[in-house]
Amino acid sequence: MAELVLVRGDITEQEVDAVVNAANSTLLGGGGVDGAIHRKGGPEILAACRELRATEYPDGLPTGKAVATSAGKLPARWVIHTVGPVYSAREDRSALLASCYRESLRVADELGARTVAFPAVSTGVYGWPMDDGARLAIETARAADTAVEQIRFVLFSADAYDTFAAHLR
Ligand code: ADP
Repeated sequence: MAELVLVRGDITEQEVDAVVNAANSTLLGGGGVDGAIHRKGGPEILAACRELRATEYPDGLPTGKAVATSAGKLPARWVIHTVGPVYSAREDRSALLASCYRESLRVADELGARTVAFPAVSTGVYGWPMDDGARLAIETARAADTAVEQIRFVLFSADAYDTFAAHLR
């Protein structure tokens, strides 16, 4: 079972094998984590994403799936892009959010990554309530069948950190 670690900080600064990007299905960049990763990682990541769109994912990466690229100038070796669901109060999309964590860890296993940093997927622009997003992230990471040794949740705010910490206990 992987060790679960929480840190408050910026995902782009993590010295891990792979960082997970809260991407959107276009894979061509956006705000939040996505914007920060492309800004700090440089154009190599976007070029790799364009290549994926030209080959494997002409219609974009489906919600709940994950795919890896190089990490450009980031300290990590790979970026694993995953597309979280937009939160809906009417429809339960939890399975898709859990799938983001599971699929990202599956891709990490394929790469041979031993340490993986995750943001709180879907809890920004996509509107997922932090408490539920944290619960799902921790439950899914705990239950995952993976060779990854450390799963690091990187939380941007003190509030997000405290919420994750409450669910880790
Ligand atoms: P989504 O579109 O999946 O909601 P966002 O990138 O908008 O993704 O936000 C996901 C979470 O990541 C939010 O809680 C946001 O506060 C946080 N966040 C934003 N920038 C960073 C960063 N550089 N490092 C870590 N977390 C970040």
